[in-house]
This record gives sequence, structure tokens and C-alpha cells, in this order.
Amino acid sequence: MKTFNVNIVTPDGPVLDTTVELLSARAQSGDLGIMAGHVPMVAPLQIGVVRLVTGGKQSELVAISGGFLEVRPDQVTILAQAAEKGENIDLSRAQEAQRRAEQRLQDNQDNVDFKRAELALKRAINRINASQGNL
Ligand code: ATP
Repeated sequence: MKTFNVNIVTPDGPVLDTTVELLSARAQSGDLGIMAGHVPMVAPLQIGVVRLVTGGKQSELVAISGGFLEVRPDQVTILAQAAEKGENIDLSRAQEAQRRAEQRLQDNQDNVDFKRAELALKRAINRINASQGNL
């Protein structure tokens, strides 16, 4: 199968630079599946797990906390607010973040805190999914 390069970068630096056969990501418009030769585009991403397939099997799960995906010939770049490879995720930190966010949502504070807690909860659950291999 034809391959292409994937580069994931965040404000903290590069997270991943590798060659894959297939990439799936959660765009704001819905789930995307990218193979070599995909038409060039830019898509905003939701908080979600990016799945990479190499050699016909899943090679990597990366937790993405929103950002943009750009497709160019032979190259996909993801500019993410934050991104962690599944194996680099601190599971207990994510579980603690989930607990804190759920507590804030239960406390039912004003709207700004609610939105913020909701996003923190999504990031935490997304990290737990990437770390545990759930999609
Ligand atoms: P927390 O409340 O645990 O800090 P957060 O969702 O507020 O979580 P972010 O602001 O999205 O954290 O990320 C801050 C930095 O910490 C980023 O570099 C991100 O990659 C890293 N990070 C956050 N949570 C984890 C985790 N569970 N494991 C590894 N790195 C993490």
C-alpha cells in the first residue's frame, strides 16, 4: 500500500514524524480517513484520537486536543493545541483530570466554568481512550 508522511506538532514541539498507510482523525465536520493521494485540504479537528496504520495494522494512537489537519501531496501535518502518543500518556493524571472536571460540572458553577470543565473532561476522556487503546 502507498505510504505518506505524518507530522504532528504542538506549541511545545514535535510529537511525531512518521510514515503511514492510513490516518484517521476526528474533524469538526466528522470522521476523516486519509490515504496517500488524498486531495489537499485543511480541516479543524475536534478533541479526538488520531489512529495511524502501518504495515496493515494499527501502529499508533495519538490523543489530540483540537487543532488543524493539513493534507498536502505525500504529507499530512497536524498542528495541535496538545498531542500525546498513547504510550506517553500519564493515565493517572488523566483520570485525576477527569475526576476534577466531573466534580466541577456537578458543582454547577457559571457558564464559563461549565464550558471549561466540559472541555477538560473531553481532553481527559480522550487521553484515557488513547492510552487504553479505546476508540
Ligand atoms: P491537566 O489538568 O492534567 O493539566 P489539561 O487537559 O488541562 O490536563 P493541557 O492544558 O491540555 O492539560 O496540556 C498541558 C500539557 O500537559 C501539554 O503539553 C499536554 O501534552 C500535557 N498533558 C496533559 N495531560 C497529560 C497526560 N495525562 N499525560 C501526558 N501529558 C499530558
